[in-house]
Amino acid sequence: MSADNDQSIIKLTAAATAEKIASGELTAVEVTEAHLARIEAVDEKVHAFLHVDREGALAQARAVDAKRERGEKLGPLAGVPLALKDAFTTVGVPTTAGSKILEGWIPPYDATLTRKLKEADVVILGKTNMDEFAMGSSTENSAYGPTCNPWDLTRVPGGSGGGSAAALAAYEAPLAIGTDTGGSIRQPASLTCTVGVKPTYGGVSRYGLIAYSSSLDQGGPCARTVLDTALLHEVIAGHDPLDSTSINAPVPPVVEAARNGSVAGMRVGVVKQFAGEGYQAGVVQRFNESVELLKELGAEIVELDCPSFDLALAAYYLIAPSECSSNLARFDAMRYGLRVGDDGVRSTEEVTALTREAGFGPEVKRRIILGTYALSSGYYDAYYGSAQKVRTLITQDFERAFEEVDVIVSPTMPTTAFPIGERVDDPLAMYLADLCTIPTNLAGNSAMSLPCGLAPEDGLPVGLQIIAPAMKDDRLYKVGAAVEKALEERWGGPLLSKGPML
Ligand code: GLN
Repeated sequence: MSADNDQSIIKLTAAATAEKIASGELTAVEVTEAHLARIEAVDEKVHAFLHVDREGALAQARAVDAKRERGEKLGPLAGVPLALKDAFTTVGVPTTAGSKILEGWIPPYDATLTRKLKEADVVILGKTNMDEFAMGSSTENSAYGPTCNPWDLTRVPGGSGGGSAAALAAYEAPLAIGTDTGGSIRQPASLTCTVGVKPTYGGVSRYGLIAYSSSLDQGGPCARTVLDTALLHEVIAGHDPLDSTSINAPVPPVVEAARNGSVAGMRVGVVKQFAGEGYQAGVVQRFNESVELLKELGAEIVELDCPSFDLALAAYYLIAPSECSSNLARFDAMRYGLRVGDDGVRSTEEVTALTREAGFGPEVKRRIILGTYALSSGYYDAYYGSAQKVRTLITQDFERAFEEVDVIVSPTMPTTAFPIGERVDDPLAMYLADLCTIPTNLAGNSAMSLPCGLAPEDGLPVGLQIIAPAMKDDRLYKVGAAVEKALEERWGGPLLSKGPML
């Protein structure tokens, strides 16, 4: 196959790829090989993948082609390649969550999300890089080295799911999966000019998702278009009896919404608290233009005051570390992965301590210490208890807001992609990247990030965040599709296609 052919395959949307496979214009094997070749050509520079499952992917692709030959009906994403965040277990395929402590661990079971992807005949190309245990906003906390932003290889792709977003932006895969505890799907989408959705908490099963902060963690879809994101959302969502927090209700009609984009007659909220110090001028400019666009498209803009959002970051950085300190206790050197110092003489406690010392990176240790402190008796009410009260106030602010509006919009991140190394030794500067994304996780509702332009000062992508109430995820797609269509008309095509091609 010629290089030109390869380029035309890797640039297709997931929806178009699936159609061409179903019609026989392309085979799933051809499509998979084109993406594997692309990974081979560029991933040395991007480092989106921790593990490429060449054989597994080709076997899945061959199975799709055989199914088609037998005349069996194919699903809407059959044969389409996908990059899976290394936070989800995959039977027989290494899973590390970006940590040394899980190096070499081969899970004996599939996450529910992995199983659903396989059942939908999606081709899993491999596992993507991430901040260790999803703790971070830049993918620099991975024990296996950072991922680079395809727009500018000296800059971060966002985090924690930088690998998944970079794989999309570098055309290594048309679909990807992320997890969003405080923004890790939406931030990388924002910094790489791709689309990412954090579904309603409980909308996508957490069974087999390596836990960071269980009351906040949520898996979700990532792609280069709103429709592709919706198609993937529909595949992975739905009730799972293996996850006690999974919602037992029909999946919101996300695909239908993505096919019928419109904001006419909708009330769209702009929250006072998502502005001010720390916001880059070009980000604010593109956001304001997006609000103008929404007006032109027939939406009514409503100003909102959500005072407790100012406390979201502080509450999150108590709740998430508290839950992580408990979740990560399972890495005790006995059950999974790494074991250090087991010489037959040392005690179990010593081996556990040596393993955790060697296996966890600095950010993970910082959070375990912070969380253990916040949960200790005597401090529990002052820290963890107060943070939970703030969480309730934030949920109430959202409830009041959604009495007045259908969706809320904001910038996804206060800045564009920052240089690798700039914030890695300054945790507080790193935490500020989460300013706009965290309230949604604390309240459990749904949100999307999609491209809304390039910042004039640095030419880097800016993301627009759309937030909807819980179980109204379809509204994200309805609004997102309308915005995407209008902006692409303005730009003369998808913005990503105007970016650098590695
Ligand atoms: N940056 C946030 C954190 O470090 C969010 C990460 C995430 O969503 N997984 O906790």
